Amino acid sequence: MEKKTVKRTENRAEKKKNFRETGTQNQKRDTGCPYAKKCGGCDYQGMPYEEQLQKKQAYIRRLMEPYCRVKPIVAMENPYHYRHKVQAAFGIVRGGKIVAGVYEKKSHDVVDIEQCLIENEEADAIIRDVKAMLRSFKIKTYDEDSGYGLLRHVLVRKGYHSGQIMVVLVLASPVLPSKNNFVKALRKNHPDISTVVINVNDKKTSMVLGGRNITVYGKGFIEDELCGLTFRISPNSFYQVNPAQTELLYRKAIEFAGLTGRERVIDAYCGTGTIGLIAAARAKEVMGVELNKDAIRDAITNAKRNDIHNIKFYNADAGEFMTEMAERGEKADAVIMDPPRTGSSEAFLASLVKLAPKRVVYVSCGPDSLAADLKYLTKRGFEVKECVPFDCFAFTRHTECVVEIQRKHM
Ligand code: SAH
Repeated sequence: MEKKTVKRTENRAEKKKNFRETGTQNQKRDTGCPYAKKCGGCDYQGMPYEEQLQKKQAYIRRLMEPYCRVKPIVAMENPYHYRHKVQAAFGIVRGGKIVAGVYEKKSHDVVDIEQCLIENEEADAIIRDVKAMLRSFKIKTYDEDSGYGLLRHVLVRKGYHSGQIMVVLVLASPVLPSKNNFVKALRKNHPDISTVVINVNDKKTSMVLGGRNITVYGKGFIEDELCGLTFRISPNSFYQVNPAQTELLYRKAIEFAGLTGRERVIDAYCGTGTIGLIAAARAKEVMGVELNKDAIRDAITNAKRNDIHNIKFYNADAGEFMTEMAERGEKADAVIMDPPRTGSSEAFLASLVKLAPKRVVYVSCGPDSLAADLKYLTKRGFEVKECVPFDCFAFTRHTECVVEIQRKHM
């Protein structure tokens, strides 16, 4: 019995050591991740990247078979360390050791993650340093059960092109002891940190971020470029986690919209306006619609920042917005839609049929709901031309698709 335990421990230590060596030096080798069993963030850990791609391709082909051809999946150049948004929960385990990482599957115990295969390495290094600094700054980690303690999470975001880094310290109360020295110490090792923000989350909730942000260093946001435009990323903003693939995906979406400069375009489920703003240079006018108020605020800021005037943003349910447009007898030439994983609503699809744009571009992170929505549209005057899958989330089972849809000539 005892022997077995010792062996297991050795194996784990050995695995961790191998992982560190191969994870940083030889990124092409598919070593298993030492945290895979507990963490549960990746579905395909240990599977060669080629095989992951084949699996995703086959899945999308099967789903799209009744509708269209599927192009080869657009693979990542490097499937490691692609996540430019990294978030770690902080806690303390028996013996007083501070841990930072993800919650263990189906529990709220934190798995202590030193370095993750898919997260940006500098972001992981910053989180490791925060962890190491806590004791000397007398900062306690927050305890969910008792509600005692201060630091709940750390969120790090890195601009892919700009290199700017934002560190968000999620605290249970707004006061960070010796905050200036804390920032100074952190920036000593990581001079690329351009802003540090305290996010106050004093609720008993599993949501990471609270509603209030206090900037303690820099501007309180970072900027990054995507397809030639500059976007502002605030602590609460939605922004794709894999910018390299996102850029390719957006370019394909805009190509599928077939714009010539004369069109009226709807960017439905527009988030912070990214796709619509990129499309605006090639369209007469763009209307962006999005449910989240903060995202719309960012979208308006992004339009101003890039000096784009032929776009308007609406804070509304996309289905209701489209229904009202259809009832008023308005028209659109192209609709680009990027709904959440669950797909769009019946109201949205019904009004899309009424608006009858020449082209619909469907950007989807939920292939099953995509297939269901295509079934609806192909029965009502639309035909599907092509589907291009993009691998934006290596080692997980998720796949993004961009689908070109056209109104049938009747
Ligand atoms: N196109 C954006 C965001 C896509 S994510 C981008 O590429 O960055 C999907 C977006 O749909 C989210 O921003 C979410 O807030 C929004 N959303 C969810 N339900 C919605 C609804 N019913 N109406 C409008 N927007 C909705």
